[in-house]
Amino acid sequence: MTTTWAGDAETKPAPGPLARIQALVNTVELPAGPDRLADLGDAEPWLAANGLLAPGHTPTRADLELLCRVREALRALLIHNSGGPPPHSGQLDVLRAVTDTATAKVDLAADGTVGLSASGDSLRERLLELLLAMRDAQRDGTWARLKACANEECSWAFYDRSRNHGGTWCVMSECGNKLKNREFRARRRAGGAS
Ligand SMILES: [Zn+2]
Repeated sequence: MTTTWAGDAETKPAPGPLARIQALVNTVELPAGPDRLADLGDAEPWLAANGLLAPGHTPTRADLELLCRVREALRALLIHNSGGPPPHSGQLDVLRAVTDTATAKVDLAADGTVGLSASGDSLRERLLELLLAMRDAQRDGTWARLKACANEECSWAFYDRSRNHGGTWCVMSECGNKLKNREFRARRRAGGAS
């Protein structure tokens, strides 16, 4: 039986390399759903498919721990993109540990296109490619549209294609309505008490 993961069928997928960041953030269904980075057997094929595992390499427990810290640091950035608080210094330090140690190499394609990619084979070095994707997205304006669902228990990464950049929920019918109903009930209770 093959396991199916919610991240394999995004309803609001990010374009291009930005999808790699979305894919990492969405390797776990919060608050208590399945986590494909919890188990080496689940994580290995995912890492290979997402360009984070060099051929011939096997992930370690320490790799998965690093990856989970990077995942939550990226989620913190997406929460900020959704209007939430800025990431705290500990979260930024997780990403700086990648930028401070990994190096990129420059390639020139046959058509003259200049590309940047991670030069190393370790997971920490390969993670630099996610930072490179962030940089490109910050330059072309797509970064601000990659957000975390405003339902704090969910925080699923989604790409906001709404015209006014006002998208708030991963899926309105699941998170938006749930919270709206909760707020409505809270208001009704508050109203009844006054
Ligand atoms: Zn949600």
